[in-house]
Amino acid sequence: MARRPCQAPDCRSWALETGWCWRHCPTRADERRAAAAKGGRVTALHAERRKLSTPKALVQFVSGLMLDTLAGRVDPKVCNALINAANAQRALLESSELEARLSALEARQPRQPNGRQRWGA
Ligand SMILES: [Zn+2]
Repeated sequence: MARRPCQAPDCRSWALETGWCWRHCPTRADERRAAAAKGGRVTALHAERRKLSTPKALVQFVSGLMLDTLAGRVDPKVCNALINAANAQRALLESSELEARLSALEARQPRQPNGRQRWGA
């Protein structure tokens, strides 16, 4: 049997016996939804294990998350929760960066007469 392309416009996948590819086949919507939900959970689990300790890593994570959500691979609710977590992480990264910069500045200052180098120390 010769392979035919999917009949959806602009789709370059090979068709199944229905004339549509797996992504476009109308009778496989349930199967796709189940796979998308599973994909969302898997992505979330991967996110847990990925180090999101730099602004660059966070940007990459959020960009990927948005694209995955648009493509239906991540549940929008999961996306929302992860975006909230990413915001919290960003705030933490910002304050630790500020702390590091402040410490660097303080290290360059001569010690105060009372021996204190840091505020509140
Ligand atoms: Zn298709």
